[in-house]
Amino acid sequence: MLSLQEVSKTYTAQGQTFRAVLPVSMEIETGGIHGIIGTSGAGKSTLLRLMNLLERPDTGKVLFEGRDLTAMGERELREARRSIGMIFQQFNLVHNRTVHGNVASALELARTPKRDRERRIGEVLEFVGLQDKAGQYPARLSGGQKQRVGIARALASSPRLLLCDEPTSALDPQTTEDLLNVLLHINRTLGVTIVVVTHEMEVVRQICTSVSVMEMGEVVDTFALPKRADEG
Ligand code: ADP
Ligand code: ADP
Repeated sequence: MLSLQEVSKTYTAQGQTFRAVLPVSMEIETGGIHGIIGTSGAGKSTLLRLMNLLERPDTGKVLFEGRDLTAMGERELREARRSIGMIFQQFNLVHNRTVHGNVASALELARTPKRDRERRIGEVLEFVGLQDKAGQYPARLSGGQKQRVGIARALASSPRLLLCDEPTSALDPQTTEDLLNVLLHINRTLGVTIVVVTHEMEVVRQICTSVSVMEMGEVVDTFALPKRADEG
């Protein structure tokens, strides 16, 4: 589904250069939930943002379904990105728009025809169980509800890949459990491939089918995980 080929990223701040991601190669297989685990500063979030070109790599290629994102022009890239959803630790919702408006914003960006938008917004809000919150502003929602809005927004353009940056780090344990179940549900019922960055082994243990371990900008280990007991 996604192939990183020798991608690297260096940041320059106050005259100092810092190598956040050394040349990394990685294959994300279709259908799984791939975890990226490591301590703070290991480069996990940067690596995730290289996957949809939210960050441009200094070197290397990013192939999504066989097509090189790094070689695409703006229009082609915007088109390809409709197939790659993303959710964030701090949810990144638009505060002055309602739940409905937040999901609508994704469809506006994706240039979905107006006549198709309302139906799609209804579908994804129902999927995350927030139909009755459509008119609320984010400030009125709990953390778990905010992340569900983030998920609804990410799912609006029917992505085949969902990138999750520390999706549960701002949530309490019970809400975390609920959210991990939503991610499992997305993977199993919608067939969406998921990549999840986390510093919590528990997240990996509960939902991931494979995991890469990052340390100081490098992937130092990658392995498959045993099937969950409830999968039979
Ligand atoms: P992780 O997600 O594993 O915590 P990050 O990818 O966020 O790691 O960061 C890796 C390193 O790159 C950190 O040392 C961080 O300070 C640095 N870094 C990340 N983003 C930027 C940026 N926009 N500008 C400068 N340095 C950055
Ligand atoms: P904002 O533009 O402030 O983000 P909305 O996107 O919620 O707010 O509203 C934009 C338009 O969508 C309005 O015309 C509103 O009537 C309509 N709308 C808002 N909520 C819903 C809903 N749950 N179902 C159908 N239409 C809605």
